[in-house]
Amino acid sequence: MKLNNADLLPEKNPIDGAWVVADSGQRLTVKNAATGAAIAGVPLLGQAETQRAIAAAEVAQRAWKRRSAAERAQVLHRWVRLIEENREDLASLMTAEGGKPLAEARGEVGYAASFITWFAEEAKRIDGALLQPVNPTQRYIVSKQPVGVCAAITPWNFPAAMITRKAAPALAAGCAIIVKPAEQTPLTALALAKLGEEAGLPPGVLQVLTGDAQAIGGELCRNPTVRKLSFTGSTETGRLLMAQCAPTIKKLSLELGGNAPVIVFDDADLQLAVSGIMASKFRNSGQTCVCANRIYVQRGIYPALADALVNAVQALKVGNGMEEKVTQGPLIDQRAVEKVEQHIRDALEKGATLLTGGQRHPLGGNFFTPTVIGNVNQAMRFAREETFGPVAPLIPFDTDEEVVGYANDTEFGLAAYLFTRDARRQWLIPEALEYGMVGVNTGLISNEVAPFGGIKQSGLGREGSRFGIDDYLELKYICIAL
Ligand code: ADP
Repeated sequence: MKLNNADLLPEKNPIDGAWVVADSGQRLTVKNAATGAAIAGVPLLGQAETQRAIAAAEVAQRAWKRRSAAERAQVLHRWVRLIEENREDLASLMTAEGGKPLAEARGEVGYAASFITWFAEEAKRIDGALLQPVNPTQRYIVSKQPVGVCAAITPWNFPAAMITRKAAPALAAGCAIIVKPAEQTPLTALALAKLGEEAGLPPGVLQVLTGDAQAIGGELCRNPTVRKLSFTGSTETGRLLMAQCAPTIKKLSLELGGNAPVIVFDDADLQLAVSGIMASKFRNSGQTCVCANRIYVQRGIYPALADALVNAVQALKVGNGMEEKVTQGPLIDQRAVEKVEQHIRDALEKGATLLTGGQRHPLGGNFFTPTVIGNVNQAMRFAREETFGPVAPLIPFDTDEEVVGYANDTEFGLAAYLFTRDARRQWLIPEALEYGMVGVNTGLISNEVAPFGGIKQSGLGREGSRFGIDDYLELKYICIAL
């Protein structure tokens, strides 16, 4: 693969200040999501290299935390500048390994950088408190200290942003962080680490380990030196990692699955609802944890919304994300395509109606035709499980109470959306929804200023925002007797 800056394809791992290959010499092949062709190889690391990285992080963190917040911020700001200068290369890497259209990949570079800028500034606002003593001869100080060595395990759907959303607050707080990116998208992670090094991050402060997820992840979870794990991925893997972290009582941040409902009321602005659904449902071909998974439509607006949505979906352009006009790239792999097919088959067998799409795309490979299904109901898999693909299932409903019940009837609680012009509904429905984030008259809610995260089995903790750095800090209380 050709990049403007060849340094951004190191095919080695940054451990303890050196770029290294696996002890075994083995490599993992990274494939182009659209064509299946091999792009590059990355080291297949295991437990031994992970242990070395943890030891290096422990030493590096002691020095990093002693730097002033302003100095740490300066390095982070330099990292942002380098990321922006290399935007095209980073976007090409993401499109090649993850499949998302180039325009979305460029957008992700900016989104990823926004977390670094935000937390570089937040570093300067990590302050404590002086409490009123119960005894006049005592003084109570509360300070905030970095958690220490942190680990991040990240998914393939946002190969850059899921790393910076964890690494930026960790580094800003004075922690060291070890990142294990998804096996499908390690190239973006290595390129980011290369730019971090160039920006002046000291050796061992940001390390990236590619390879055997179970061996690397197992060590990161079990090693007592690692004080915190931040994970974004499936609820199933999150549960396993949480259990593996239990013996060492690690702090945890978990961003897990979602099953986002969209509710369109009769009084909604139809065009706004359609564009919001399109943005939420079809971004990254439906492969984000905040993507609309089930769309509840009140009966009065149902026929018009279904027609308008079908038109919008038929206008999408499926293809290799490297082609500028493409809006829908491939799914990540065959397993993803099969899951989409199973959910569609399940709904059609139970009486739903196919409105458009419904099958694999003629391009073959991992491509799937954008789909709309009508007359879906709560008994179908669309209502229960995350589909993670380009399928919009429409579920008719009658009353507010009924739809809130449907929306909350899930173990997930990440994002929900509603479209209504009614001011009472704009207040009351979000309050009744058991979700960490609610979008009202919009399908795009995520940014660096707002706290991202879920409740119930969608996770623990919040990322981004002024609250996000707390996950990388510990409170220390000092009582001074005078
Ligand atoms: P997906 O099904 O989307 O691939 P996962 O939750 O399995 O979602 O993957 C998210 C991240 O978790 C990836 O980096 C993957 O390598 C990692 N992962 C998966 N299984 C394990 C495991 N047993 N231990 C550590 N990391 C894991």
